[in-house]
Amino acid sequence: MLQKPPGIEDIFPDRIERWNSIMDTARAVFSLHNYRELVIPVMEYTEVFSRGIGDQTDIVSKEMFTFEDRGGRSLTLRPEGTASVVRAYVENGEYNRLATAKFFYAGPMFRAERPQKGRLRQFNQFGAELFGSSHPYYDYEVISMMDSITKNAGIKDYSLLINSIGCPQCRGEYIAELRRYYLSRRDELCGDCKNRLEKNTLRLLDCKKEPCIAIKKEAPVITDYLCEACREHHTELKKYLDNNSITYREDPFLVRGLDYYTRTTFEFVTDRLGGQNAFAAGGRYDNLVEHFDGKPTPAVGFAAGIERMYLLIEDIPVSEKGVSVYMVHTGGEALEQAVRLASGLRACGISVDLDPETKGFKSQFKKADREKAQAALVFGGDELAAGTVTVRDMKSGEQDSQDASDLQALARILKEKFSS
Ligand SMILES: [Zn+2]
Ligand SMILES: [Zn+2]
Repeated sequence: MLQKPPGIEDIFPDRIERWNSIMDTARAVFSLHNYRELVIPVMEYTEVFSRGIGDQTDIVSKEMFTFEDRGGRSLTLRPEGTASVVRAYVENGEYNRLATAKFFYAGPMFRAERPQKGRLRQFNQFGAELFGSSHPYYDYEVISMMDSITKNAGIKDYSLLINSIGCPQCRGEYIAELRRYYLSRRDELCGDCKNRLEKNTLRLLDCKKEPCIAIKKEAPVITDYLCEACREHHTELKKYLDNNSITYREDPFLVRGLDYYTRTTFEFVTDRLGGQNAFAAGGRYDNLVEHFDGKPTPAVGFAAGIERMYLLIEDIPVSEKGVSVYMVHTGGEALEQAVRLASGLRACGISVDLDPETKGFKSQFKKADREKAQAALVFGGDELAAGTVTVRDMKSGEQDSQDASDLQALARILKEKFSS
């Protein structure tokens, strides 16, 4: 039997209603804020990600699906959306001339990680990006969009964490201080962190190992090192959140593993997902567009994991919609009539299913039940002779006879009786 690779899932219809309700909620909120969809490619030249995410990050150094095309150029399946959106924005001559541009995207991302709950190799994200303004209102806008999507999707037990990681100027001073602190406790660090100390000091704060968590507690915090402009920006953001009743917690160690973030970082977290506690994350990346050879353009955005949100709303009942009408027939000429009627009713917007194999009424009614049909339309010898069809209400079992020749009238009757 052929099998799917590890960490890659099929989304069967029993999950799709909840799945779609998350995406419908996100699309509705994006539209209310004038964000429009950008469909980005599933693969890019590898350089887009190595430049956009950073060679030092775990994503680029060990988690990408990278391969050569037939011409020997290196391609990578996208591990996240932002780098592609920025590449597209810079490459497109029209949108990057606008004062501000707002986009959202959705689709599968790929990372070669060890699969576990809430962590897949092919996973789905939606996200939004705003280009062209460094105003803290927009930090608030993207946070409030994700907050609305979370609430509207029915997710309750979650927290919003925010932080500022400053700008390259004030961050440099902080990183130097952080490095001094960690060097002084180098012997107590785990092996990975001893390595990080040489390459990416900020990432030390992400370590989930016991000794390092304890050491972090006494580490210097970035908010003490912010320059005047960064401090002002952070204060303004908090004012917008307070004024609009969005609750948050400040986490001075929320630094993110990616190199391009400036000032605001944020995460939506929950303790209901085991080890993977963030289901959405984002922040400001004022220097990324320039890094992609675009003209300097401040930007802010976020991405959310659909599978993780799905796990959080698993227990919310979603009404499963079945087929409206199931045709029950005795085969032969009755089947021909049933098919003709089915295509006519479908053209009138009624969903119809049938089984062309000739089986007994009993097994066909059973199937109608399983497909959650609201009505069964029965065609047998009597109905054929009289030019009628018997309509059975699958819930009450009541049935009556209707004229089968006037399709429009029959569709109207069915809709009145069974529209939910
Ligand atoms: Zn600063
Ligand atoms: Zn560590």
